[in-house]
Amino acid sequence: MEVIMTSSQSFEHPLYYAKEIETMGRESLETLQLERLKWQVKRCYESSEFYKERFDKIGLKPEDINSLEDVIKIPPVSKQELRDEQLSHPPFGRYVVAPGKDWRELHPSTGTTGVPVNTIWTEKDVENITRWTIRTMWNFGARPGDIIQNGFSYGLWVAGMSCHYAAKTMGCFVLPIGASMAERQVDYLLNPGSTVLLSTPSFALYIAERLSKRGIDPPDISLRIGCFGGEAGAEIPPTREKIETRLGIDAYDYFGLAEIGPTCASECTEKAGIHWVEDHLLVEIINPDTNRRCNPGEVGVLVLTHLTKEATPMLRYWTNDLARLTTEKCGCGRTHARSEGGILGREDDMIIYKGTNFYPAQVEKVIRGFDELDDEFRIRITTDEKTGIDVITVLAEYKSKEIDNDVFKNRVKQAFREELEVTPGLELVEAGTLERTMFKAKRVEDKRVKAG
Ligand SMILES: [Zn+2]
Repeated sequence: MEVIMTSSQSFEHPLYYAKEIETMGRESLETLQLERLKWQVKRCYESSEFYKERFDKIGLKPEDINSLEDVIKIPPVSKQELRDEQLSHPPFGRYVVAPGKDWRELHPSTGTTGVPVNTIWTEKDVENITRWTIRTMWNFGARPGDIIQNGFSYGLWVAGMSCHYAAKTMGCFVLPIGASMAERQVDYLLNPGSTVLLSTPSFALYIAERLSKRGIDPPDISLRIGCFGGEAGAEIPPTREKIETRLGIDAYDYFGLAEIGPTCASECTEKAGIHWVEDHLLVEIINPDTNRRCNPGEVGVLVLTHLTKEATPMLRYWTNDLARLTTEKCGCGRTHARSEGGILGREDDMIIYKGTNFYPAQVEKVIRGFDELDDEFRIRITTDEKTGIDVITVLAEYKSKEIDNDVFKNRVKQAFREELEVTPGLELVEAGTLERTMFKAKRVEDKRVKAG
């Protein structure tokens, strides 16, 4: 059976970059997914000792995967298992399926949560990733001729390179500025006048702050679109609104991760959730308690399977990210499933406090809903020396010292109570006190005294 593995033909339709694949009926899409899934499972079993051992351990054979639902029979792979595999079989582990002569690029994960996990791209992988990243930018409304300011870090991090390839292939003028300092970003926004900005949402807010300090207002810049990834934010309503107002643009969210790919899902102009590239990925939302698939709309852990990746394919990669999924047709006409609200948090970011759990993104929503507060914040978790219980304090920045009083603080606390169902402590500090980052912002400071 000949499985066509290239991404898709590009038609450059006014609305869709690859109309045929993006608006394909669900039945045809699922037929294509199954064909590719079987191909992937077979080659993983035959060419990777890592996968073969995992299959053999439970007596599973590639022939047992006959439907998309059957994928649940395959044990999920965690990041830690990939790390362990790399350590026991250095340097890349035995999950590399393509032969060494076909390797073209190495892209490890950022290592923000431990030892980086290496992923490799073949020529075909580079081509597919480029095509699906073009789809992401096209979804946002970027078109040939746009001036794209790529504020993602270049080098090993996947997003910088893939966005660069995509912008160039699409026929745009790329400014490979990377995560340079904000002042330089502002210079390029003004001259030659970028029309599309790619960065993390935190960095976009920081650039906006610098622009405003120079007395420059949105009408003075040519920026039209912002593509924001690397962390949640663009889909948190107050954050999106702030970025859009301060930069005078449409802000869009997209999601990617090193182990899978730089732009696995992105919003369309409907801003109704992120559309997955389902011709390249099989998306599952799993209830971590039952290990069963969640119903449409239910929140669970995102588990992704590569359908076309050649070099380091992942079969059921357990992302730890939380999302929901719907296959209802979107207003944009695309049929690929969407996760409404984007990535809702990480399973390991969940904060348990006084018997309730919440995520940093919910704190962000509250903080950014107050105009009196600046954008940056921290969630500090400590242990009360006397009682041994956890104490959570949110640090936020006031724009004017006048609001550092109980009346205002109680308003914020009330908003916390409504959003989180618990009320953490609140400490206000002067604007600019908390460190701004260009990269993924680390906003939870866990200073708890660990038991034992
Ligand atoms: Zn859509």
